[in-house]
Amino acid sequence: MKKIAIIGGGISGLTAAYRLHRLGMACTLFEAGPRLGGIVETHRENGFVIECGPDSWVAEKPWARELAIELGLGGEIIPSNDHNRLTYVLQQGALVPMPAHMRMMVPQGQAGMDSLLASSLFSEEAKRAYLQEPSRARELKDYAAAHAGEDESIAAFVARHFGQEVAEKLAAPLLSGVFGGSIHKLSVHAVMAPFVALEREHGSLIAGLASRQRTGASLFASLRSGLGGLIERMAEALPPSSLRLREGVVTLTRMDSEWKVETAQGRGFFDTVLLATPPQQTSALLAPLLPGAAELLPRDASSAIIIALAFREHFPLPPGFGFLVPEGSSESRLLAATFVDQKFAHRAPEGGRVLRAFFADEDLMDLPDSVLIRLGMNELSSILGQTLPEPAISLVRRWPASLPQYEVGHRERVSALEEQVASLSGLRLLGNAYHGVGLPDLVRQANEAAQRAASL
Ligand SMILES: Cc1cc2nc3c(=O)[nH]c(=O)nc-3n(C[C@H](O)[C@H](O)[C@H](O)COP(=O)(O)OP(=O)(O)OC[C@H]3O[C@@H](n4cnc5c(N)ncnc54)[C@H](O)[C@@H]3O)c2cc1C
Repeated sequence: MKKIAIIGGGISGLTAAYRLHRLGMACTLFEAGPRLGGIVETHRENGFVIECGPDSWVAEKPWARELAIELGLGGEIIPSNDHNRLTYVLQQGALVPMPAHMRMMVPQGQAGMDSLLASSLFSEEAKRAYLQEPSRARELKDYAAAHAGEDESIAAFVARHFGQEVAEKLAAPLLSGVFGGSIHKLSVHAVMAPFVALEREHGSLIAGLASRQRTGASLFASLRSGLGGLIERMAEALPPSSLRLREGVVTLTRMDSEWKVETAQGRGFFDTVLLATPPQQTSALLAPLLPGAAELLPRDASSAIIIALAFREHFPLPPGFGFLVPEGSSESRLLAATFVDQKFAHRAPEGGRVLRAFFADEDLMDLPDSVLIRLGMNELSSILGQTLPEPAISLVRRWPASLPQYEVGHRERVSALEEQVASLSGLRLLGNAYHGVGLPDLVRQANEAAQRAASL
């Protein structure tokens, strides 16, 4: 039987291993750390469900949901509380609500436009730019046709439609909240492809969005007992002998017709290798095989520190999902915060609360947990204008260089890299450095890679 190795046991590598197993193929999964799941981790304690990494998937992409159902977790899928969907931006010390009924920076229908026009976030000039965008459809469509296939920054794309102010006040915090990246560097083709398609087809993003049917479904979905359920169920389905924890791969060598995979514990020989490590580790493993690979992998990846705080006491919070802090703000060191029990049900026992505070500052990475927790508490207290009670549970997770930055030209670089990798038969790249950082896209790619590996 064909021998397949998977390197990296995050959602990407583990899903590939699970899919291979379902296809009747054996594999060996090497994971450097002591646990599976990578950035996906759920902490459950005394009725609290605390996500230490991702908290949900985007509901309109089906692949994570399909995986959950296949794993017997269909009854556990919960929607985000969209009736309560409101996100704030910290501006001059106040939490200013972002307009409702928006698809990122594009208003959806009349409700979106009304909410935007009523918002105190924007100047009259920015509101005029929004009102005029649909009537500029022809000009915008012509521009898109003349520049078809040319990548650009998200800042340039948004400013063309709605002006610089909207790029800075809305797109920047949204994108730094999700990607930890700068709109001046991030690629619109790689990060906002559906909006590029709307521009190509309709010119106006507002008109394009209005022409699409709304499903009324929630924006995000999760699992009642946390996303860790996906990891646990997949791990349970796999033969224990196929899971090699604490076995980081140190070198990967192409032999005549095989791959040699070496760890500190020993070596193995495989026909196919799926490399599902973060970009820095992928770069190191590929360096001897493809000297140019490092140039084609994302150069930067942003870091995140999560401070999760669970409280037994109920205390007032502004309605909504949480807030974002604009990049470079002098008002707070936070990147964002989530009001977890307002975003999803089943996160705290009756009357309890869960908050998550995010920092992206590399300088904070080495501070002790206790200092980070205090810093998170202080920042939240000051922004929320109240002293928070002592949390019953507080935990810190550091995710250094965890979100690769898809900078302008990303898709072309990934195509070139994949072409080079294809020349080394039996090797395939997986993970969040290539075709999407979100869970649904990673599950889809892992499924495809496993199917391909099984069929070769
Ligand atoms: C703070 C944060 C919040 C997020 N929120 C969301 C969200 O709400 N929704 C969403 O869809 N996405 C979210 N994302 C993105 C998503 O969580 C990640 O893109 C995804 O989990 C990455 O999975 P992965 O398997 O590709 O990589 P990872 O989870 O990084 O896994 C890679 C694994 O490879 C292992 N490894 C490294 N080197 C070696 C080696 N040499 N040998 C063997 N193993 C090795 C690592 O230990 C790790 O376990 C978030 C990301 C972060 C950082």
